Amino acid sequence: MPFSVDLNGKFQLPLRIVDSFVVAPMMGWAHELKAGQYIRLTDPRGKQCGDFWSFNANDLSEHLSAMHTRVWVNKLCPVPGESFHTNHRRPILQLIADTCGIHDLLTAACDPHRYRLYGVQSEHRSCAGNLKEVMAPYWGEGIPFYVPQPFNVFANVPIGADGSVLNGPAPSKAGDYIVLKAWIDQIVAISACPQEFNPITGWYPTELNVDILEAELSDAR
Ligand SMILES: [Zn+2]
Repeated sequence: MPFSVDLNGKFQLPLRIVDSFVVAPMMGWAHELKAGQYIRLTDPRGKQCGDFWSFNANDLSEHLSAMHTRVWVNKLCPVPGESFHTNHRRPILQLIADTCGIHDLLTAACDPHRYRLYGVQSEHRSCAGNLKEVMAPYWGEGIPFYVPQPFNVFANVPIGADGSVLNGPAPSKAGDYIVLKAWIDQIVAISACPQEFNPITGWYPTELNVDILEAELSDAR
């Protein structure tokens, strides 16, 4: 299925969808993404954030790193045209398109400890737990002792002039999406955040859609 990405109104980048997935509400998903392929993450209903991770397919200890990316782009989060970087300080994904414009590269993934602080006594799904679940086939016995800080897509974490870091209302509208291009072969993982105790998911977790895309080469090239 063809799909064109508008590059700042200057160029339409023709892509075709080669695979599509649904990340069920409160669940995780992981998949290989080859160098040169694109991934589109869509919020079909609006107000749903997703925690996103990426790992070098040939060395899983190298991963998208929020803190290294912030230093590279000199801002809180990349904008279209800029790249996310790894803990080895090289680009791993380029942000190609973004219809929402509000994401977070500061806050940790929700985890079981977070939900216990909300007073949840029983088991509660979490983005950190989802990551460990979906990466288990890739990590095997080599599960890292910590969860890398995610790229929190469609997450609104406004920073106040006094340095305050808040949980703002979910910013995405139904159909909002981002498109990323892979610089290297990698494993990407997404968690449809199960957080229903603050406004970051609009208080009601829903699903996310994922498409894997490739460039549609025209006869003119
Ligand atoms: Zn979460």
